[in-house]
Amino acid sequence: MNEGYIAQSIIDAILEVASKRNATKIKSATIVIGQLKFIDKEALTKAFKALSKKTAAEGAELKIKVKTAEFKCKNCNFQWRLNEELINARDVILLQLSPEYINQVIKCPICMSKNCEVLSGYEMYIENVEIII
Ligand SMILES: [Zn+2]
Repeated sequence: MNEGYIAQSIIDAILEVASKRNATKIKSATIVIGQLKFIDKEALTKAFKALSKKTAAEGAELKIKVKTAEFKCKNCNFQWRLNEELINARDVILLQLSPEYINQVIKCPICMSKNCEVLSGYEMYIENVEIII
């Protein structure tokens, strides 16, 4: 993922929100990133800082919330959340690369079926924009 490109998209979106609300400045923006989304949060924060200079978003705080991944077993319909203590780091990276790895790294804790799907974990959205009018 190109963090610079993502940061620019976030800035464009929050500047639009700010201008619609006649804000002079953006105080903070909260974004939600799914746990399986392959993003370097530090690089994203840095890019946000650099690219927001000389805009209404300059100096705004970028708050990043990580949303826990959820899975569902297609065999018994059990749903559960990813627990990083029970899955190794390499498997998390595989899932970040592609949801297609799910059948290799995830199995249902109830019926042990490998026929599972990702319910959430790959999303990214702006949850809140704090503005100053
Ligand atoms: Zn199951």
